[in-house]
Amino acid sequence: MPTFDYAPAPESPSIVDIQPSYGLFIGGEMVEPVDGTRFKTVNPATEEVLSEVVAAGPEDVDRAVAAARAAYDGAWSRLSGRDRGKYLYRLARIVQERSRELAVLESIDNGKPIRESRDVDVPLVAAHFFYYAGWADKLAYAGFGADPRPLGVAAQVIPWNFPLLMLAWKIAPALACGNTVVLKPAETTPLTALAFADICRQADLPPGVVNIVTGAGETGRTLVEHRGVDKVAFTGSTEVGRQIARSVAGTRKKVTLELGGKAANVVFDDAPLDQAVEGIVNGIFFNQGHVCCAGSRLLVQESVADELLAGLKRRLTTLRLGDPLDKNTDIGAINSAEQLDKIRMLSEIGETEGAERWSPPCELPERGFWFPPTVFTGVSQSHRIAREEIFGPVLSVLTFRTPTEAVEKANNTPYGLSAGVWTEKGSRILWMAQRLRAGVVWANTFNRFDPTSPFGGYKESGYGREGGRHGLEAYLDV
Ligand code: NAD
Ligand code: MG
Repeated sequence: MPTFDYAPAPESPSIVDIQPSYGLFIGGEMVEPVDGTRFKTVNPATEEVLSEVVAAGPEDVDRAVAAARAAYDGAWSRLSGRDRGKYLYRLARIVQERSRELAVLESIDNGKPIRESRDVDVPLVAAHFFYYAGWADKLAYAGFGADPRPLGVAAQVIPWNFPLLMLAWKIAPALACGNTVVLKPAETTPLTALAFADICRQADLPPGVVNIVTGAGETGRTLVEHRGVDKVAFTGSTEVGRQIARSVAGTRKKVTLELGGKAANVVFDDAPLDQAVEGIVNGIFFNQGHVCCAGSRLLVQESVADELLAGLKRRLTTLRLGDPLDKNTDIGAINSAEQLDKIRMLSEIGETEGAERWSPPCELPERGFWFPPTVFTGVSQSHRIAREEIFGPVLSVLTFRTPTEAVEKANNTPYGLSAGVWTEKGSRILWMAQRLRAGVVWANTFNRFDPTSPFGGYKESGYGREGGRHGLEAYLDV
């Protein structure tokens, strides 16, 4: 039962200019593929075809790597850090200037609410470029030696959940350190990366410093296995991460992997419960739960479990699901039919294994890919919905009695990307943070990102850090 109705407030799609088909961005120009084919990309909220993009073939990838190598050996490596920084500042400012267009395009291509692409994704993209622009002429003071050298050509493969933000996380530190890149966006979300290609052109970035090749897994595999790349950076599933780790073993390539997660969001009995409810909602329903660090396991202290769950369910009935371009929308579309199938399958297994499933009354649009916010109670640690990454708007609730039990349950996962702690006690926050095996621990907040703060995982969540001073190391020969 929504608290009150809003009139629709849709952002206008007329600000974006989507071409009927795109080429590849190689050597500073949009070029036709040599051996690539074309495939359609759809709007997940409507299933309408948006455009046709290239699935780059081996020769296309080869050309992109050659262009990146030529730029690395040529203009880019002769620039001072200060001049590289100027380009990065320019990219950051153009992202800001074109922020509305980029936000609308991201929502159309990905299905995420405009409120999020406008207020979270795109501002963080600009912040990332600004932040690493600042490092470009200060690498000697970053703690990696007096004159740290770049690696060369970076092959970067990114997922569909934060398309432009993941691009920024990859490209900004690579360029700041003096590398050149070939980036492959995910097959379902190529459009903002292609818009970024236009931004590179607009910024007069030297040709070949950034190359964008679209395509699916096969293009990604060809790129990371290419002998001409010096560095591989991947964000995506643990399964593909494993394949990549195997394929680069025994080569000179330096590699960073940002993989999945199954984060615990731990609520103690002394936590401000209303605030915790907001944090839980943000933790798992932000971006339809398509977040590697999502708080997908709620661990709540038994004595406050009933009260917290009642508050959470009340709050969930007020969430608005629907048109991603509507400024009132909280929950947008699931990114693809494939991902929707996976969420449905794991949710059905949750029921079969005996957990209790609940969703607020919520009407799903007829076309497009949709899944209602869902809460499972009565979940035990052995249930698949407590162990596997669902990557959707699905929360599994478990309880605990003591802090020690909370730590044991939180760490009982093959992943280790993030965690949340809700308590009024500062000492308990520190006690928990020391024991949680997670790259990021949020206290009385969740899903907060900042370019100055390193991000990355333990165990099967991957290795290496992105963001902050730590994020420079992945792109330097140290
Ligand atoms: P994926 O790992 O298959 O895809 C991520 C990227 O890797 C895409 O660009 C894809 O084209 C590319 N890719 C696929 N196979 C490749 C290969 N063999 N070599 C090189 N690149 C390859 O992820 P997905 O299939 O889109 O999603 C599956 C699951 O992965 C999700 O359900 C979720 O659990 C997880 N996931 C995690 C993240 C994250 O941010 N950590 C992001 C997306 C997906
Ligand atoms: Mg896949």
